[in-house]
Formats: sequence, structure tokens, C-alpha cells
Amino acid sequence: MAGAVSVAALVVSLPLDAQQRVQPSKFTRAPMTQAPPSGEVEVLPVRGNVYALFGAGANIVVSVGNDGVLIVDAGRAELSDKVLAAVQRLQREWTVRNEPKSLGFGAETRSSVSERHITAPPKPIRYILNTSADPDHVGGNEKLRKAGHTFTGGNVAGNIADATEGAAILAHENVLSRMAQGEGQAAVPADALPTDAYFVDFYKLSHYFNGEGIQLFHMPKAHTDGDSIVHLRGTDVIAMGDLMSTGSYPVIDVAKGGTINGVIEGLNRVLDMSIAEFRLEGGTLMVPGHGRLVDSADVAYYRDMLTIIRDRVEDLVKKGRTLEQVKAANVSGDYDTEYGSTTGSWTTANFIEAVYKTLGGGEVRLKPDTTRERVPVKPDTTRKPDTTRKAPAPAKKP
Ligand SMILES: [Zn+2]
Repeated sequence: MAGAVSVAALVVSLPLDAQQRVQPSKFTRAPMTQAPPSGEVEVLPVRGNVYALFGAGANIVVSVGNDGVLIVDAGRAELSDKVLAAVQRLQREWTVRNEPKSLGFGAETRSSVSERHITAPPKPIRYILNTSADPDHVGGNEKLRKAGHTFTGGNVAGNIADATEGAAILAHENVLSRMAQGEGQAAVPADALPTDAYFVDFYKLSHYFNGEGIQLFHMPKAHTDGDSIVHLRGTDVIAMGDLMSTGSYPVIDVAKGGTINGVIEGLNRVLDMSIAEFRLEGGTLMVPGHGRLVDSADVAYYRDMLTIIRDRVEDLVKKGRTLEQVKAANVSGDYDTEYGSTTGSWTTANFIEAVYKTLGGGEVRLKPDTTRERVPVKPDTTRKPDTTRKAPAPAKKP
């Protein structure tokens, strides 16, 4: 909105020929979705002690504070040095900003150590949460884990020799099994694997971290079968993983259990969890797996867009249309300028195919079976006509 207002103000103050030059040819969302230059990691404050890192593969959510660092997704492996540097800078800056204040007592009544700026070093990375097993979400796991630390106490530290080596990595069980098997991706080093996996509907840290509760919710059959969203309850920020990507249709990885209905259900779940500040604007803030920061209105719009396309495809599937016919029907035409693509790893055609397949399109039951041979039915000559039954006598006329 602000962009439109400033363009209008500029137009009024310029002579006519200049007006024609600055008039945009059509509305565009480009400035809102612009990614940082390739290879650069951009830091955006989300709210309070929570930040988002863009440009390192999937978006990364970072919580810094008294308890250390918690990260949702780790970005690509080749950018993990830059991610680590950005995370450490955020944590260092937080520590400096929150240095204990001097109480102002004199040396006779109290030590003046705190006034000599002797402060504890920044706390390390303690938790890495993975929303899926994609390389652009888990690629940085190994390096970030090794830079971190898990705190244990009592007899735990004695029992598990490597319990304090590196940060803990949490993910859904299907992420762990997929990464451990190296299914569809390069072999994963042991230090990159989740150290804790959950297999129920949700999982939570057993205690506050940096002053808030943190929960993971499993989104079954959405982008894949192992997606999680992460709710930071105090700052009210939701890391959505690949349920949403502001610049493209959602990637539905059918081979790994993804479905269109699972994505829509996941978006509805996020909307159920979020509370707007005023008329759908502000309030709960969401960091999608790819693209810019969003709020409830953006998620609702994205959900509506997917629901409309899903319904159109479903209608054609029920009519028994082939995939080629559905693609030719241009079911996403009114959204392709904003989300579509004809190039890259996830095209509009890929998306429509995934929607079609996961709605049961192209399954055998929809087509008449033409492979079976027709066997002519022969008349049964073994049965003799029943001679015991007589034709009923004609009714007598009165
Ligand atoms: Zn992704």
C-alpha cells in the first residue's frame, strides 16, 4: 500500500511527460519479494529477539537470548559459514545490548567487577529444528551443530559420552529416516542427522527457551510426509517451512508423500493458530520456507488461491480428464503471473501435475479397462425347456 501511495504523490508533482514515464505499466509485487543478491545472507528482525535470515537456501528463523541460540532450518551447506557468522553476530550483539547494568554501589559496599565490562561470552547454538529433509533446509546442520552445544546435567552427561558435543537437532521421524537412508539425496554425515525425532502430532521443548515456549507441529502429507511448522509462542512467530513460498506455488514432493490437500490443511492449521492484530493485518508473524515475511492475510490469500486451483483440478479429475487436458485447461492462469514459472526446478506444469496426481487423477479406476478381451457369451444348450409349467389359462369372460 505504501508503495502505491508514494508513486501517486510523485505523479502529481511531475510534468505530464514525466508522469507517463513513472506510471507503472501494471501492479507488481517485485519489491516485496526481492531476494538478496546471490550468495549473500540478509538478516531481518522479526520481533523481539527473533530474526530471519534470507538467501541461504530456505529461510532461517533465529532466536537469540539468555539461553543461547535456537535455529529453525539450517540453509544450504555451501552457505553455512555465512549463516554461522550471521547467527554469531546476532547473539553477540544481543549479549552486548543486554549486559548486566551496574548497580552503582561503591567499592566499599560491593565489587565493581560488573562496571569493568567483564561479561560472560555469548551462549552457543543449542537447538536446530528442521522443517523438512530438503538439502536447502538441512544442508547447514553439520556445521551449525558442531558450533553449538547441548547442556546436560546429572547422570545424563556421564551416561552419554557425546551428549554435549554440538547442538541438538530436532525433526519429525520421517525426516530422520529419509536423511539416514540417503533417499533421493546425497549421503548425510552422522553429525547432520537429527539427534531427537518425534513421531506424534506435535513436540515441544520441555522448558522455556529464551523466555518462550517452542512447539513443533507435524503437517502430514503436505510438502512431504515429514514437514513440521514451529511456533515460537511468546514472540508469536511461526516458521512455516515449505507449506508456503511467497513467490511460487508450493513444492509438493509427491514421491516423498506430499499432497495438495495436506498443504491446504497445513495452511488452515497455521491460520487457526495465528491471531491478527487488526483486521487480518499484523499480529502473528509467519516466516515461509521461501520468500518474504507474511501475516495472516497473506496466508489466507495463499490458502484461497490453492483451494481455487485444487477445486478446478478436482472437477476435471472427476470428469475423467487426462493430465494433458488439465494442463491445457489453464486452471491456474489467473495466478501464474504471481506464482507460476516455465523454468527452474518447480514449474507451473510440475505443480499442476502434483495436484492432479494427489487428487487421484489418472488412476486406473477412472478409465474404462480396454485391456481385457471381450468373450462372447454362448447360449446354454445343456438346459432343457421346463415342460412342467403350463401357461396360465386365459381368464374367462363374464
Ligand atoms: Zn524449501
